[in-house]
Amino acid sequence: MAKILVVEDEPEMASGLKDNFEFDGHEVHIAADGEEALDMTQRLKPDLIILDIMLPKKSGFDVCRELRQRGFQTPIIMLTARGQEIDKVLGLELGADDYITKPFSVRELLARTRALLRRTSVQAGCPPLLQIGRLRVDFRRYVAYDEQGNEVPMTVRELELLRYLVEHPNRSISREELLTEVWGYRNYPLSRTVDNFILRLRKLIEQEPSKPRHILTVHGIGYRFVP
Ligand code: CA
Repeated sequence: MAKILVVEDEPEMASGLKDNFEFDGHEVHIAADGEEALDMTQRLKPDLIILDIMLPKKSGFDVCRELRQRGFQTPIIMLTARGQEIDKVLGLELGADDYITKPFSVRELLARTRALLRRTSVQAGCPPLLQIGRLRVDFRRYVAYDEQGNEVPMTVRELELLRYLVEHPNRSISREELLTEVWGYRNYPLSRTVDNFILRLRKLIEQEPSKPRHILTVHGIGYRFVP
């Protein structure tokens, strides 16, 4: 459960969002204008802010800029109007983390919110750059670097798998657990999938991928991550 601040001046939209987020298990507060948004952020320290742009007193842009200037790192999803490409660009430049265009599906907003909360909870628990064998990974931005500092192309799934291993060190983790937790499969006909991903991660991380020191095989079970 997260504490979410919805900043929206249209009462119907605000209460609709509140209902949906509450249904999704979150604690929700509503601010109806830009100044209230700043006050409530200061007071309530929300985990995430849904921020409309067109607001009384202060625009969403001003709110976003001021929060970042005051040092608040709270993740922000901006609500932009359709066709206002410039809003998206400006919002992200001012420090918003994501945006969604009105009219939007609530389902998509909920999905984006969950993804952003996941990303930022990693941020809170991890140092910005994590050294994992030969690889350095920034789990906030989902970017990996090699020893020379060059970016290593990795898919989101590879990074999520790696993140799961890193978050559960020194423990035997079954392929089924990885499929459920990382892939989200309910039934898993292809546990080979995991093995293929592990081979790829070893190539990136290990000095000698055939003699792994970080991602070990646990025979008959799965894998164990050793930092
Ligand atoms: Ca509005």
